[in-house]
Amino acid sequence: MNNWRVEVDGEGVALVTFDMAGRKVNTLNAEVISEFTSIVERIRSDDAIKGVVIASAKAGSFCAGGDLGDIESFAGPGEPGKEAETLAHDIERMTKDLTLFRGLETSGKPVACAIEGTTLGGGAELAMACHYRVAADNEHVVLGLPEGGLGLLPGGGGTQRLPRLVGIRESLPILLDGATKTAAEALAIGLINEIVPTGQTVDRARAWVLSSPEAVQPWDKPKFQVPGGGPYVQANSEAIAMHTALSRVKFYDNYPAQRHILAALYEGIQVPIDAGLRIEMHEFIKTVRTPQALAMIRTLFLSPREIKSGVNRPAGHPVRTFKKAAVLGAGLMGAGIACVQAKMGIETVLIDRTPEAADRGKAYTAKYLGKQVSRGRMTQEKADVILARILPTTDYADVQGSDIVIEAVFEDRDVKADVTRLAEAQLGEDAIMATNTSTLPITGLATASVRPENFIGLHFFSPVERMDLVEIIRGERTSDAALAAAYDYIAAIRKTPISVKDSRGFYTSRTITRYLDEPCEMLIEGIAPTIIENIGLMTGMPVGPLSLPDAIGLELSYHVAAQTKRDLGDAYQETASDTVLDFLVAKHGRHGRRNGKGFYDYSDDGKVKTLWSGLSELAEPVMTDAFSDDVKTELKKRILYRMTLEAARCMEEGVISDPREADVGAVLGFGFPRWTGGPISLIEQVGVAKFVKECDALADRHGERFRPGQMLRTMAADGRTFY
Ligand code: NAD
Repeated sequence: MNNWRVEVDGEGVALVTFDMAGRKVNTLNAEVISEFTSIVERIRSDDAIKGVVIASAKAGSFCAGGDLGDIESFAGPGEPGKEAETLAHDIERMTKDLTLFRGLETSGKPVACAIEGTTLGGGAELAMACHYRVAADNEHVVLGLPEGGLGLLPGGGGTQRLPRLVGIRESLPILLDGATKTAAEALAIGLINEIVPTGQTVDRARAWVLSSPEAVQPWDKPKFQVPGGGPYVQANSEAIAMHTALSRVKFYDNYPAQRHILAALYEGIQVPIDAGLRIEMHEFIKTVRTPQALAMIRTLFLSPREIKSGVNRPAGHPVRTFKKAAVLGAGLMGAGIACVQAKMGIETVLIDRTPEAADRGKAYTAKYLGKQVSRGRMTQEKADVILARILPTTDYADVQGSDIVIEAVFEDRDVKADVTRLAEAQLGEDAIMATNTSTLPITGLATASVRPENFIGLHFFSPVERMDLVEIIRGERTSDAALAAAYDYIAAIRKTPISVKDSRGFYTSRTITRYLDEPCEMLIEGIAPTIIENIGLMTGMPVGPLSLPDAIGLELSYHVAAQTKRDLGDAYQETASDTVLDFLVAKHGRHGRRNGKGFYDYSDDGKVKTLWSGLSELAEPVMTDAFSDDVKTELKKRILYRMTLEAARCMEEGVISDPREADVGAVLGFGFPRWTGGPISLIEQVGVAKFVKECDALADRHGERFRPGQMLRTMAADGRTFY
C-alpha cells in the first residue's frame, strides 16, 4: 500500500498508520480510500485482529480532509444524455465510501483513533466512525468540517455522526459555518473522549482497545437517543431557526450547500443511521452538482494549484533561488513585503529615507510575529530568527548581493526613478528590479532602469501577509528570463501569481473600479445608500460598495481618476463615480475613513459609522426601503455584471489571458464573490449566450455601459466557452 501501514502486535491490536507517500499531510483520495477499504475488510475477517488503533505518521496532522481534485471528477451534470447514468455511478461510488466507515464501526472490534494534529473534513468523519478518540494536548489539534464554508457538504457521514455524538445545537455552527474545535473544546462537547500529552495518543488508544470495551457506536444501540433530543425539542428547533437565519445573513443564500446541510441534518437525525447516511449522500450529490460548487472547486483549489505549479511561467529558464532581497520604502506595503520575505527565509534589506522610518517598517514584522507567538502559532525562538533576517537601513550599499529588489516608495514617477537608479548601482547583472506601483505603467518606469529587460511590475495587495495574490506586470522590454524569475520569486514567498499586460489599472484594480462605479450610478438615480450597501453585500462581496472606497480613501480614487483624465484627454469617458467623488472630495472635503468623513460619518475612534445624510443632495430619492425580489435581482445583477463585463473586456484586450488567472485574481485579489468561482466562471454559470442577452437587456434599460463586447458575442454565437 502507498498510503497506509498495518502492524498487528502480539496482543492482536492492529496499528493502522495513515502515511501518504511523499506528502506532508494526509488527504483522502480514491487510492487512499481503496486501500483503506481492503484494511477494513481485513479487520472484519482476520481473527488475529482483536482491536484497532488508527493513527497518522505526519507531524501535527491526522488528515486534512478529502482531496478536492478528486471530487471534481464526479461534480457537474454529467455528459449530455447520460445524466442519469452518471448520477447512478456517483451514488454507487459514494455508497461504497459510506459502507466503508460503516464497515469499520460495525466490525465488532473496538476501534480507537489517535489524534496528534489537524483533523478536518473526511479526517474528522473517519475519526467519528471510530469508537473512541484520544487527542493530544497541543495547538495543532483542530477538529472540524470546513466543507460548509467552502460551499460543499461533508459527505462521509459528518452530518449524521456529528449530531449523534454532540447533539444538534453544537453541530450547527460546525456544519453550517465550518467552525473548528480545539482539543479542549472538542472534549467539552463530547466530540473526543480524552486528551493526553503529545506523543502518547497511540499508547492511550491501545490501552483503551485492550480494556475490553464495548465495540458498538452509541447510535447502534437499541435505545439510542440523540444527545439533547431531536429537532422538535424546543431548544433545538430554536437553534435551527437561529442558525438558518445566521447563515442567511452570512451567505445571503448564495451557497446552496447550507440548505442541503440543514436538510441532511434535520431529516437524517430522525431516522436510523443507515437511512440518515443515505439522505446525506443524496444531499451531497445534489450539492456537488450545483454550478456554484463546481466553480468554487475549480477556482479555490484546482486553478491555484495549476497556476502555482508554473503553467504560465516561460519554459526553458532555470529556476532561480532568492537568498537576499531588498525592499525600498518601509511604508505600509514595503513593511508587509519585508515581513513575508523574512518569514520565508529570505534575508531582507529594508530601506527608507530615515533610520526611524526604516525601523518602523521592521517593527511591523515584530508586531505581526508577537501576535503569532501570543496565539501559540509560533515559538519565540522562531520569531526571533525571522525578525533577525530584516535589516532596516538608509544605506544603499546594503542592497549589494540582492537577487531581487522590490520598490514600494511613494506613487511618484520621479521618486521611483531616483530609488531605482540608486538600487541598480548596487546590483549584479541578473538581479531583478521590481516595482509595486499600483497605477503607473511599467514600461514608463523602466526608462529609469539601466537594465529594462530585468525590470518588472509585482503588484502586491494589502495587507501583504494575508493577501495571497501578486499581479506580475510585464513591461515592453521585460525579458522572458525576468518573467520566469518573477514567478520563481512569488513561489519562494508562497503566493499566487497572475500575469497581466502593462495597461491602466492592470487587471484587479481596473475590474474593482466598477464596484464603485455602478453603486454611484444608483446613488445618482436616487436609490437609498442603505439599499446599495446591502445589495452589494448580498452579491457576496465581502465589503459594501460605499464602505470599501471609504476604507481605501476617497482622495486616492479621486486623484487616480484625475490623473487618468489628464493622460487620456478627450478619450476619457466620464463615469458616475467622477460625479460622486467630485461632490464628496472636491465640494465637501470628505476623504474617507482617514478624515472621519466619506460616504459615512465616523465616530472619533472610527468604530461607529453612519451613512452621511448629505448623500441625499445627489438625487431625489426614488427608492428608499421596501423593494421587490425582481428589483433586488436586477440591482444585484447590475453590480456583479459591471465587474464581470470589465473582466471579460480585460480578456478581450489581452490584459489577462488565462481564464483561471482572471477568476483566481478576482476572488483572491478583491474578494469577488466566491460562490461564482470568479467573473469568468460566473459568465459560464449563466451561460455565455444568456449572459450576453441579459447584458443587452440591462444596456437597453440602464445604458451602454452594459453592452457586451464582440468577443462575448462571437463566443455566444459559436457556442464557445472560456474553460
Ligand atoms: P506609504 O506611503 O505607506 O509608504 C511609502 C514609503 O516610502 C514611506 O515610508 C516613505 O518614507 C518611503 N519613501 C518615500 N520616498 C523614499 C525614498 N526616496 N527612498 C526611500 N524611501 C522612500 O505607501 P504604500 O501604501 O506602502 O505604497 C507604496 C507603493 O505601493 C506605492 O507605489 C503604491 O501605489 C503601491 N501599492 C499600494 C497598495 C496599498 O494598498 N497601499 C497596494 C498595492 C500597491
